[in-house]
Amino acid sequence: MDEFDLIRRFFRRPAVRSQTRFGVGDDAALLDPPPGQVLAATVDTMVAGVHFFPDADPAALGHKLLAVNLSDLAAMGAEPAWALLALALPEANPDWLSAFAEGLFALAGRYRVDLVGGDTIRGPLTLSLQALGWVPEGQALRRCGARPGDGIYVSGTLGDAALGLKMLRGELGWRDETAVERLLRPRPRVALGLALRGLAHACIDVSDGLAADLGHILTASGVGAVLEWESLPLSAAVRRYVAETGDWRLPLSGGDDYELCFTLPEAAARVLQQRLPAGAVAWHRIGTIQIEQGLSIKKGGKAIPLPPAGYCHFEYDDK
Ligand code: ADP
Ligand code: MG
Repeated sequence: MDEFDLIRRFFRRPAVRSQTRFGVGDDAALLDPPPGQVLAATVDTMVAGVHFFPDADPAALGHKLLAVNLSDLAAMGAEPAWALLALALPEANPDWLSAFAEGLFALAGRYRVDLVGGDTIRGPLTLSLQALGWVPEGQALRRCGARPGDGIYVSGTLGDAALGLKMLRGELGWRDETAVERLLRPRPRVALGLALRGLAHACIDVSDGLAADLGHILTASGVGAVLEWESLPLSAAVRRYVAETGDWRLPLSGGDDYELCFTLPEAAARVLQQRLPAGAVAWHRIGTIQIEQGLSIKKGGKAIPLPPAGYCHFEYDDK
């Protein structure tokens, strides 16, 4: 099987969108974003041994690689449309490729995303995907619009993926399949992102931990925030972990949640409730934007400062 057979066999599928003029098979894809829409583009890379265990389930990897990119588009309020896939593979293993493609296309089908190109090379296992989508002119959700008095909201629950990682590493004496599933197959909050258009003052997806990602909103907006510990949406498994270990910072600093964190003025929260379809992900108010800079959390009657601790690939001394 050469490179071209591999692409034809696993990654060339008929386009589902009329805006896809030409996908896989030429030197570049030809795409037609609808008039009046702005293109939203993002890319994420996952490296074996850094972002996933080298023996991870390939179907879950295909799902997650697309999901983390759709999460970025959701955070911008963009509708996903296209993906480009760059693969470095140590070998062309048909079983691995078939399962990987199945995981990727299952999620792509759900959101009508066409895979329109990519690159396939031999090298240490590295998965990179670029996602493209669109958002009406002037309606993109940015990090920079949070205002004092806005409520701070988050979808779903926090800390499950970080807990799932501890379980896969064998750091705990128990296992919760829902938490592990949250790590392996995150669900991009696409419908929520679309519903937030024209409502949210600021939005970000939580990939590096709530404190770190909310910190980006605060920095970009030039404001501060106070969170309420009692309001954080936590699953039964995370509650159990916090109760048993005392490590209450996990849901604030753990990565890979892929929930949306956004700020809304009071009236907009009521509109959002009406806009979201039945069965949409739950969302909860967890705090308030304030003028005073910095991030803190009210817990047990005290305000505890939260330094923006999250996952960081590079740390350097700028002495
Ligand atoms: P080029 O050498 O011109 O960059 P390639 O030979 O790498 O083209 O790829 C041939 C075609 O297959 C192109 O349309 C490219 O976008 C597509 N392609 C390559 N690898 C992948 C992949 N992993 N998934 C989807 N499309 C791919
Ligand atoms: Mg090439």
